[in-house]
Amino acid sequence: MANNEIWTIGRILKWTEQYFEQKGVESPRLDAEVLLSHLLKKQRIYLYVHFDEPLQAEELAAYREMIKKRVAHVPVAYILGEKEFMGLTFQVTSDTLVPRPDTEILVQTAVDALKGMPPEAHRFADIGTGSGAICLSVLHFTENTEADTVDISPGARAVAEQNAAALGLTERITFHTGDLLEPIKDKTYTAILSNPPYIPQADIETLAPEVRCKEPMTALCGGADGLDFYRRLCAEAPDMLLAGGFMAFEVGIHQAEAVANLAQEHPLIERTEIIKDYAGIDRVVVAWRKK
Ligand code: SAM
Ligand code: GLN
Repeated sequence: MANNEIWTIGRILKWTEQYFEQKGVESPRLDAEVLLSHLLKKQRIYLYVHFDEPLQAEELAAYREMIKKRVAHVPVAYILGEKEFMGLTFQVTSDTLVPRPDTEILVQTAVDALKGMPPEAHRFADIGTGSGAICLSVLHFTENTEADTVDISPGARAVAEQNAAALGLTERITFHTGDLLEPIKDKTYTAILSNPPYIPQADIETLAPEVRCKEPMTALCGGADGLDFYRRLCAEAPDMLLAGGFMAFEVGIHQAEAVANLAQEHPLIERTEIIKDYAGIDRVVVAWRKK
């Protein structure tokens, strides 16, 4: 990046795109634009209308730091410190999984199911809450709901608490740090939601370096076959559901049927449903407790 020509928005974007491409960044142009527009506190469209605008020295220095992180495989969301999910902005750090668009299906499923229930107050739990993406979105898009969240990571809990405050939802949520259902085992719920770690141990090494080296391993690995957390949730969660309540879990590729079977093994579960994501992949398992 060292020569005497002026670094305009157009020129720096072109340079960064080529550099990212050389370094194997997956979406070189998009990432270059997203990082620069965030730095300049503008929409991406601004960049296109201001190609000839020169960058200030301190903007250039800050952008250079972002570029260094990105080629070191730091996910864009960690560089920005935030990720959009369900149209809401979530703060993220290296203590939290970056919320995935796939997970919006679980939120939509839970919101629809809760809205289909009698309009009294409902309490639900979100297990392995991470940044709070699932729980806070469900609270935001429903009325008369309150939630308990559990995560084993104190770092994730701190981020989720800040997200709750930023979204004005602190009053409706109680945070717990601990192992799965343990901290809330004496409570009952209309719904128990979870996107637990589900990557099989042997598949971890096939993940992109952005995920494998930068996201928390406690958020990803679900044991030898990826199903360890579902085994525990399906054995214990149905007893904590109110009559007619449901549990809904995000699942990994090819896991839906196995998870639905695990749920059906519990005598209190009446029926299960499998819901596909926008790519046509079975993504969410819902299991209903008998009325
Ligand atoms: N719910 C967030 C989302 O969908 O973006 C994060 C999901 S991430 C796949 C799984 C989360 O489960 C991580 O935040 C991780 O810290 C948490 N976790 C892992 N093992 C756990 C355990 N034994 N008890 C509670 N939480 C756990
Ligand atoms: N969807 C994430 C990934 O593919 C994994 C999240 C999880 O284990 N629940 O990287």
